[in-house]
Amino acid sequence: MERLQKYLAECGIASRRKCEEYILQGRVKVNGKVIKELGTKINPDVDIIEFDDKIVKREREKIYIMLNKPTGYITSVKDQFGRPTVLDLVKVKERIYPVGRLDYDTSGLLLLTNDGEIANILMHPRHQIDKTYIAKIKGVPTEEELNKFRNGIFINGYMTSKAEIKILDVKNGTSLVEIKIHEGKNRQVRKMCEAIGHPVISLKRIKIGELSLKGLKTGEWRYLTEKEIEYLK
Ligand code: URA
Repeated sequence: MERLQKYLAECGIASRRKCEEYILQGRVKVNGKVIKELGTKINPDVDIIEFDDKIVKREREKIYIMLNKPTGYITSVKDQFGRPTVLDLVKVKERIYPVGRLDYDTSGLLLLTNDGEIANILMHPRHQIDKTYIAKIKGVPTEEELNKFRNGIFINGYMTSKAEIKILDVKNGTSLVEIKIHEGKNRQVRKMCEAIGHPVISLKRIKIGELSLKGLKTGEWRYLTEKEIEYLK
């Protein structure tokens, strides 16, 4: 619940003081009734507020955030088991939510926003935005296994679409690989690596399209730049 004059001011009608005058002048209605009481509390989610017979609404500022997610955090707003969520790492006054998800045990680039439209676009399967991951996997894949990964694998009744994979380093019986996919099915990278016989030991997302984690330490976050926001749209 909020005070009526504060809400009107936040909607850009006028200063709070001026809005008080407007209320006293009878120019403000709540749910169709003129309200002249200055202390009146309203619920902007439910109540209809009018000024000079026009409905007023607060324009929510849209915000876009990039987080370098550590492992051990769940990608949701709340967890039924009380585990820490990514929102414990990003403290802003706006109500934001993650775009897509990273597993509890995956780290890296996660976007958070309060812009439902952009969240929808990015999460839609038709939106073919590449996601780049660095994975440490068991063993060293053969060229044949790598090609299988690239050309599509049958997993749980569907064929994965074309993907990229290249070996960056081989150490102590493990390989560091860079993977690019544009699908985002549940635990997809893990399942694909498992399917070629090289299960994931650790997984980090380093890019979404052109957006890169560069310069952001694990657990840190920043606002996207105007240019990055334009790119996503
Ligand atoms: N693929 C996975 O397997 N896990 C993630 O968190 C993201 C992509």
